[in-house]
Amino acid sequence: MGRCSIWSVVDLDTPLTTLLGARAAGLLADGLDLRLVGDLLGHLPRRYHERGELTDLADLVVGETVTVQARVERIERRPMRDRRRSMLKVTVTDGRQSLPLTFFNQTWRERDLRPGTTALFAGKVDEYRGRWQLTNPEVQLLETDADGDDAGQGFANALVPIYPAAAKVPSWTLARCVRLALDSLDPLDDPLPGRLRAQHRLPALADAFRLVHQPASRAEAARGRKRLTWDEALVLQVALARRRREVQAQATTARVAGPDGLLAAFDAALPFPLTAGQREVGAAIAADMARPVPMHRLLQGEVGSGKTVVALRAMLAVVDAGGQAVLLAPTETLAAQHHRSLREMLGDLARPGELGGDPRATGVVLVTGSMGARARREALASLASAAAGLVVGTHALLHEDVVFADLGLIIVDEQHRFGVEQRDALRARGRRPPHLLVMTATPIPRTVAMTVFGDLEVSELTELPAGRAPVSTYVVPAAVRSWTDRMWGRIRDEVAAGRQAYVVCPRIGGEGADDDDPAAAADLADGADARGAHPAATVVEVLPRLAEGELAGLRVESLHGRLAPARRETVMNDFAAGKTDVLVATTVIEVGVNVPNATVMVVLDADRFGVSQLHQLRGRVGRGTAAGWCLLYTAVDEETPAWQRLGAVAATRDGAQLSRLDLEQRREGDVLGAAQSGGRRSLRLLALLRDEDLIRQARVEAVRIVEEDPELTAHPALRRLLDAMLDDTSAAFLEKG
Ligand code: ADP
Ligand code: MG
Repeated sequence: MGRCSIWSVVDLDTPLTTLLGARAAGLLADGLDLRLVGDLLGHLPRRYHERGELTDLADLVVGETVTVQARVERIERRPMRDRRRSMLKVTVTDGRQSLPLTFFNQTWRERDLRPGTTALFAGKVDEYRGRWQLTNPEVQLLETDADGDDAGQGFANALVPIYPAAAKVPSWTLARCVRLALDSLDPLDDPLPGRLRAQHRLPALADAFRLVHQPASRAEAARGRKRLTWDEALVLQVALARRRREVQAQATTARVAGPDGLLAAFDAALPFPLTAGQREVGAAIAADMARPVPMHRLLQGEVGSGKTVVALRAMLAVVDAGGQAVLLAPTETLAAQHHRSLREMLGDLARPGELGGDPRATGVVLVTGSMGARARREALASLASAAAGLVVGTHALLHEDVVFADLGLIIVDEQHRFGVEQRDALRARGRRPPHLLVMTATPIPRTVAMTVFGDLEVSELTELPAGRAPVSTYVVPAAVRSWTDRMWGRIRDEVAAGRQAYVVCPRIGGEGADDDDPAAAADLADGADARGAHPAATVVEVLPRLAEGELAGLRVESLHGRLAPARRETVMNDFAAGKTDVLVATTVIEVGVNVPNATVMVVLDADRFGVSQLHQLRGRVGRGTAAGWCLLYTAVDEETPAWQRLGAVAATRDGAQLSRLDLEQRREGDVLGAAQSGGRRSLRLLALLRDEDLIRQARVEAVRIVEEDPELTAHPALRRLLDAMLDDTSAAFLEKG
């Protein structure tokens, strides 16, 4: 390794070439993408070894680059085939298991690797004749020399940091580079304000780096790490607080329903009383929209909690006040259903200009990407002329040349991955930024709401409307014939009683491009337990099999994303009208579909779906007053993680609990969107579930800082960190919501 001059002083922006010389810096850049001193110090140990504590060799994984601490058991020199050169066969142990190491042309190592010696070995685990081994690993002896110095190894403490390493840059080389950096580090500008540090008892930045890289104890390492996590949490929350401020600074039109307008007429005709939650959320929305500042609200509500009525009432208030409102759905199926149900709920109020009709009535139009040119022209004309006050559509509405007379409100339904950038695109559609309401049934843990949706105010609908029937969920093992028979029998019984059923398959099957839900396909790909299993059930195969076999005599139809939109609409309408008994479908029915007469759902190969997805699917039954059934059919064995996942879904209907479980099973990166994973610098330490308290505190601090000093003039280091984060992949974290 190159040596830096002891006198040079570095800060986080110093290139590593200055500190380490070109050769060593080149290795760090190529192997680990570390270029600046800040990158190096931000490359944190993955774990710590106690000096002398041996690595559990049972944990090794073939193909991984590992650093193990082990004791030499045996060493043997053997000639290689050509008889001229030799190799060393070394066996190391953790006290229980042993691991062979092979060194070619390194006989000089014989001197160092005497039996009983403990050392660090780093390399890629490979398999040779059915046994795991390391070939030509890097070696670092751990003994200190006589005067107790650590012989330049970079770890003077009892804890040896183990870094995520690359083939040419073993962990101890990193430790040595880090030590050079720490030894010559200038006092750093601290992004955390001193007051905040004092209040939360956090070490200064340079100290935190020392604690994390060279801890004397695990408690020290944890203290350092916590401080670095604070940096991430604070900068993220500052970014969000600034966004909220920007939104608050915009001016828009206040929208207030008239005392005797459309909303009043609708409320008067409502066939059921609103739940307390619906009234409360409705009041919050009305208050938001009564201000000349754009509403920016997230409505989280359990499956079936009645979000559509809340949405419609907000839309009607806007029409009352002379504006127009958009309801966006993630799929055409759902958009069409919303269009149908809004018109049903509104009755005469959705038929303007009819003789003897209500003069307050307004047009409700549907705009989707697949509608015919004429229908589309008409729909667009009625929007431009304000004849239609309400429009339902898919995101096609965003990209199209749709002109509104006066867009006042946008509601986004069932789209919890609807990022800031899309929200901005939408808001730009009005002459003045419209009010915005995002609705989701996927309960979002508070901390996710505070990060991914940190720029929105959050309301929740927790109670279901009264009189809602319970849904019983069971896991049905494919291996037990009698259960399978009872499962199909349940569908036949319900249909005989005048009810309807869904059969959900993971895939469409047949010819043609794939599935409706890439998430299902992804689940399929990563589910370790799905590996080697039979191919997933497909709509194309299951439909004829059921129609001729288990469900012979019933009216069975299929629904999936490859059907033409008009066909899909017909199938959905027929099912809603009770003309079909059983719908064999993909996850196109996952969100929002509302047919209260459907009481049974069978999910085939349920193990292929994620927890939240199953909960969403199950929400399609039990929407009326008759008891519902959700039967999760699977071929996986009990005791497998997949089975346990299904068991968890069967055991609770608490969406919040299930979404937490879902989150725990994914990597952090997935939560914030794909752009998060990979080489991102920020948000690495922040674990959304574990750091709940910290995120909450950081939010409070961020709000305070931004209120006092929105441009962060008094906090230059924090400002730099913020700019770096926002530059970084153009703020992917904000866009990917
Ligand atoms: P989600 O919140 O899942 O979108 P929906 O808005 O589709 O739920 O509502 C589910 C069903 O509950 C609909 O049939 C709707 O008419 C009905 N519903 C909504 N609010 C009430 C209420 N206050 N009392 C009774 N039924 C209601
Ligand atoms: Mg809904």
